[in-house]
Amino acid sequence: MTKNYEIAVFEGDGIGPEITDPTVKILDQMARNSNSYSLTFTDAPAGATHYAKTGESLPEASMEIARRSDAILLSAMGLPDVRYADGTEISPQIDLRKALTLFAGVRPVTVRAGQRTPLNMPDGKEIDFVLIRESTEGLFFTQGRGEVTENEARETLLITRDISEKLFKFAFDLAKTRKATGRGPGKVTCVDKANVFRAFAFFREMFDAEAAKHPDLISDHAYVDATALWMVQKPWDFDVMVTENMFGDILSDLGAGLMGGLGLAPSADIGLENAVFQPCHGSAPDIAGQGVANPFAMILSGAMMLEWLGIRHDVEAMQNDGARLRQAVDQVVAEGQVLTRDLGGTAGTADAASAVAKVLGVA
Ligand code: NAD
Repeated sequence: MTKNYEIAVFEGDGIGPEITDPTVKILDQMARNSNSYSLTFTDAPAGATHYAKTGESLPEASMEIARRSDAILLSAMGLPDVRYADGTEISPQIDLRKALTLFAGVRPVTVRAGQRTPLNMPDGKEIDFVLIRESTEGLFFTQGRGEVTENEARETLLITRDISEKLFKFAFDLAKTRKATGRGPGKVTCVDKANVFRAFAFFREMFDAEAAKHPDLISDHAYVDATALWMVQKPWDFDVMVTENMFGDILSDLGAGLMGGLGLAPSADIGLENAVFQPCHGSAPDIAGQGVANPFAMILSGAMMLEWLGIRHDVEAMQNDGARLRQAVDQVVAEGQVLTRDLGGTAGTADAASAVAKVLGVA
């Protein structure tokens, strides 16, 4: 029987709507071609443009659409010129993360043969690892509430048992799924600073407790400073890495750098009940409205969404469609014929998205 899944769509600001539109069309067409699942897309207004028009950045009605949906597809949000009275930017993606307790920030890093990368890749090597950034606590715990006096400033790093246990279970489950699908040896690396901080010794202790439940998987530890070095020297050795919020914030940009920039970097923020899928890049106001934005990170985020929904609801066809969509983008990038400017080509958004649709046979 075909089951329907509801997708909340936040089209975002700047280039957001330009890259959301072709992504939703591809996902819709793939679902229409499937006998195993269907998708319904519901627009959820939010963001800087919406705030400028209405005075609301994330209306309760949109929050409700997000809560009740099976997955949330979110484009880039925020505009540098649109701010709250306190001077901070409108960022509903962060509000959603907090409101829905999306503790696992999933940042895949892949460099396939033929893909541009600043590294000199040894022959036959490819990069394929996933960085999981805890996204609700760590050094972001006092975000916006740090204490600053004339002579001192303090922020608090929070590591809780509750969130860490969920995070590590998520990391090992992901490594298991990847291993089962032929991606990676089933290895999880805990990235911390347990040599210096008690909080990270606590973090590591909980990681080891989860690792003990998975004798079929490999567990490993690395200090964050050494990890930054190894991500440049031997990134192909990593499989699943799991780390604290601030460390993950920094290392995920290093990961995007390995991929040649943000244009190919998708992400997911996943909790126990909800999940948001969105490109790592922002709303790129400098190129908005020109039809030249790279849609690949958004399309790859859509692919992650299909794979996640397929695994969660045990719909193999949806998992397979997610993998096919990811591979279609990889193929277009490797062929190098239809690339947007940020990847060294001259194609516009529509042509780049059409090239992916053609590979899939849904053009
Ligand atoms: P940005 O990622 O929007 O842009 C940085 C540079 O990368 C720009 O030169 C831009 O043109 C380019 N770029 C980004 N995405 C691209 C794409 N898909 N195709 C081609 N080129 C692309 O970062 P920024 O300029 O620092 O931020 C702009 C706005 O986006 C700000 O308001 C910021 O707060 C917001 N932002 C949102 C998110 C999010 O929604 N998750 C993330 C980062 C920044």
